Amino acid sequence: MKQKTSQTGNKRVSANTSAGNNGKKQESLLEKFFIDQLQDIYYAEQQLVKALPKMQEASTTEELEDAFAHHLEQTERHVKRLEKVFKMIRQEPEGKKCEAMDGLIREAQSIIDETEEGTMTRDAALIIAAQKVEHYEIATYGGLVQLALTMQLHRAADVLEKTLAEEEDTDQQLTFIAEGYINMEAENEGGYSWEKHEETQQGVNA
Ligand code: FE
Ligand code: FE
Repeated sequence: MKQKTSQTGNKRVSANTSAGNNGKKQESLLEKFFIDQLQDIYYAEQQLVKALPKMQEASTTEELEDAFAHHLEQTERHVKRLEKVFKMIRQEPEGKKCEAMDGLIREAQSIIDETEEGTMTRDAALIIAAQKVEHYEIATYGGLVQLALTMQLHRAADVLEKTLAEEEDTDQQLTFIAEGYINMEAENEGGYSWEKHEETQQGVNA
């Protein structure tokens, strides 16, 4: 993942430039940002532990239900792994409200509210909602792994990498499920407005 150099005004923020000859470094802003992102994803994973059972319950197909159940187990492990990472850097595990994840979860809830129970359309839409969540997590863990490596936190990077791999697998698995038959069957659940439009057009031309 490419990352922009962080700048404050025209002053470059760097963990090393502030080190004087007496060896006293000022507090690292990168470390601060790393902890901030850990708290963000810690909160997000905890919210997902609560949201996934609802998505599982709302699913039409057994495939999607199983996929959500499986990812719920993984998500519980993601919370534990983050606690491990907090411990490695001697921080108390603490969540920080993540507006983005709250929004994505609200989006999933509104899909449940707006689609009919037992339809393939609901599953097709739930898969997209779930993939948006996975992509948020992938972006966060991808960044965290890189930051951990940059700061020589190799053990933390390994732990975060495990979760990253599971988020990526889940994303691919969801695509696979959608393309198996769910999208196609959802396609048969209704006629399109533009088809009606075409019929009218043909009527006009005849
Ligand atoms: Fe996760
Ligand atoms: Fe996930």
